[in-house]
Amino acid sequence: MNTSFPLLFVSHGAPSFAMEPGLAGETLAALGRQLPHPDAIVIVSPHWMTRDHVSVTASALPETIHDFGGFPDALYQLSYPAPGAPTLASHIVELLQAAGWDSRLDPNRGLDHGAWVPLRYLAPGADIPVVQVSMPASLDTRSAWKLGEALKPLRDMNVLIVASGSLTHNLYEFRGATAHGADYVKQFASWTGRTLQAQNTDQLLDFKQYAPFAERAHPTDEHFLPLFIALGAAGEHYQTQVLEGGITHGVLAMDSYLFTSPGQEPSTSVQPLKGVA
Ligand code: ZN
Repeated sequence: MNTSFPLLFVSHGAPSFAMEPGLAGETLAALGRQLPHPDAIVIVSPHWMTRDHVSVTASALPETIHDFGGFPDALYQLSYPAPGAPTLASHIVELLQAAGWDSRLDPNRGLDHGAWVPLRYLAPGADIPVVQVSMPASLDTRSAWKLGEALKPLRDMNVLIVASGSLTHNLYEFRGATAHGADYVKQFASWTGRTLQAQNTDQLLDFKQYAPFAERAHPTDEHFLPLFIALGAAGEHYQTQVLEGGITHGVLAMDSYLFTSPGQEPSTSVQPLKGVA
């Protein structure tokens, strides 16, 4: 019997997602109520990039970083006061070093919006300790998979791994976005969900070659790479559930993915719970 903790890829969209939950916020909130209670959450986001090493937050009280400009004042008042987990952080550094990564603790760094915005929905009580892991700037799909693989043992320590990115992320189009979902966004999102469910890891790793509109969906890769961290942590055999999040700002697909071990009870009811807004 495999009791590894489920893990997630989440789309964090734009910072304004913090105040506009939409379908994705409702879905993450419903999932948070249905998942088993983890002892800690380990989260990765492309808004913390380190040059050639992997840093791990070691603060006992990581601050909420408002790492964005030009949004309504109310967004800068939000916080996510979850405690850190310094002992777990040290263990993560050991796991990463054992897997060949140059890894170190960062006692000062807090949680960026790629981390705290989705966590406000997923774990609204802010009472589960959170550790954030950085992404080396040199990551590609295969090394991101390896990074996730190094984190996989955490799933056997009752830890929820959350790889936070965005299913599509074309910021040039975001700034001039129309109100309705662009067709290429739907096609790219649909391909990714289908290919994950078919467990076609080879095509995913070379998504620029196989996915429709890959260059347009991701002019740069950093918001899609967390998906490969999730895949590495999911291991060779996994089940995927698409958690539909719709499309925001016309161009940001907000789907998330839940990964469980084969044979693990699929969370068939991870939909926004009717009557529980
Ligand atoms: Zn982002």
